[in-house]
Amino acid sequence: SAANTTASVFAGTGGGSMVTAKKKVAVIGAGAAGLVAARELEREGHRVVVFERGEKAGGTWVYDPSTETDPLGIDPCRKVVHSSLYRSLRTNLPREIMGFLDFPFSIKEGRDLRRFPGYQEVELYLDDFAAESDVLKAIRFRTEVFHVGMMEGGKWVVKSRRDFGEDVAVDVNEIYDGVVVCSGHYAEPRIAEVPGVERWPGEQIHSHNYRIPEPFQDKVVIVIGSSESAADISREISKVAKEVHVSSRSALDRFGKKFYGHENMWLHSMIQGTHEDGTVVFQDGTSVIANVILHCTGYKYHFPFLETNGAVTVDDNRVGPLYKHVFPPSLGPWLSFVGLPWKTIPFPMMELQCKWVAGALSERIALPSEEEMMKDVEAFYSRIAAMGYPKHYTHNISGCQFEYFDWLATECGYPKGEEWRKEMYFANTRNKTENPDTYREEWEDHDLISQAHEEFSRLKQ
Ligand code: FAD
Repeated sequence: SAANTTASVFAGTGGGSMVTAKKKVAVIGAGAAGLVAARELEREGHRVVVFERGEKAGGTWVYDPSTETDPLGIDPCRKVVHSSLYRSLRTNLPREIMGFLDFPFSIKEGRDLRRFPGYQEVELYLDDFAAESDVLKAIRFRTEVFHVGMMEGGKWVVKSRRDFGEDVAVDVNEIYDGVVVCSGHYAEPRIAEVPGVERWPGEQIHSHNYRIPEPFQDKVVIVIGSSESAADISREISKVAKEVHVSSRSALDRFGKKFYGHENMWLHSMIQGTHEDGTVVFQDGTSVIANVILHCTGYKYHFPFLETNGAVTVDDNRVGPLYKHVFPPSLGPWLSFVGLPWKTIPFPMMELQCKWVAGALSERIALPSEEEMMKDVEAFYSRIAAMGYPKHYTHNISGCQFEYFDWLATECGYPKGEEWRKEMYFANTRNKTENPDTYREEWEDHDLISQAHEEFSRLKQ
């Protein structure tokens, strides 16, 4: 019951750990980020409440066969579905590097043994992690945070609504010392601008609402995007659709050509225009009459509950200003964001970010002054602008993720990352690019797998 959950939250924490600067901390979301945040905060001795609007932990990894009422996901009044998983989804990272640093994503008897397992296995792994870390008692399920605001004296008011079903909901206002935002960023679709689409008669859908290929049977489908989801979904749809036309900004030399090994799949440039007769014209001069446009165009950072009087804003998908993607200089360490960077290995990154947040909240780890943090953020923005990066790439850390991991680790007094992890990440990226149809079944980094297993057996000792 609600009463039991709330009572046990405070009874179970703190135990033998007599950290003097113990804080009361609200964590928003019980996905991978929220779970590891709860573990690290509790290890540090803080009192933690995790708010989760869903019925179970796991976030993205809890598959939901239902879809939103607006298939494009733009109507602000739509029924919102959190997870963007499709039914056939398998991980795009090998399990050896995907897991938390001290809780390897190991093979378990009777479960999905594949190196790139299906989503169910990741959900089970997170269940195991939550049980082993003993953080379930800190989670209030079916409880949505609808307001987080600053109070005088640096504290935070957190307003949440617990859903008891059958239209019964209870609102609770509480005060916390710190708030850690772990609400995920793959739930608010970003849509491509398609000229003339208002008059185009076909259907449009965002990949957030894609589950299974059957609705695309015998259709001519345009897939916009070149992300991992676009690669997986276009291949899956091509097995049932009449034709699939992928519209992408990249791969210039291959426009107009068929995908290798796929008789009904073509690559095109961006869409130039769409017409009332169903025609879609690409910038490369080709055109097709299509039935569906499927936007695999990513997501927007979205924190509808957060009110910081302008201290943190989302501008062209830059959440800022944030020191090292985590702390707003004027509000750190009392407000933090976990899991924002993308094009990375999320679980270990979140784990390191959470160690930093937990240590900073207890003042064991010192943050630079507000001015110094702000200077660092401004220098970072100037650097990426000089490199020609668009603003919406602010949190894309593909070029420096391992430096970022090592920086976080050093800040927390944790060892730097092992070489095999980096090499395995790059080996997988190469294999995925060169062999997008087979990389989950065939690889050559056997020596790295052995090194990973040696490391994992050392951890068990
Ligand atoms: P989420 O998992 O999204 O969890 C956020 C939680 O916050 C949710 O449970 C949500 O209900 C809750 N929440 C949000 N707002 C509120 C609120 N106001 N009140 C209460 N609760 C709230 N990563 C990999 O490592 N390997 C992969 O192969 C991989 N494949 C992916 C494939 C797809 C299609 C997608 C979308 C992502 C993939 N990822 C992959 C990235 C994945 O998102 C991360 O691994 C990770 O699960 C993100 O965890 P999170 O906790 O940050 O967010």
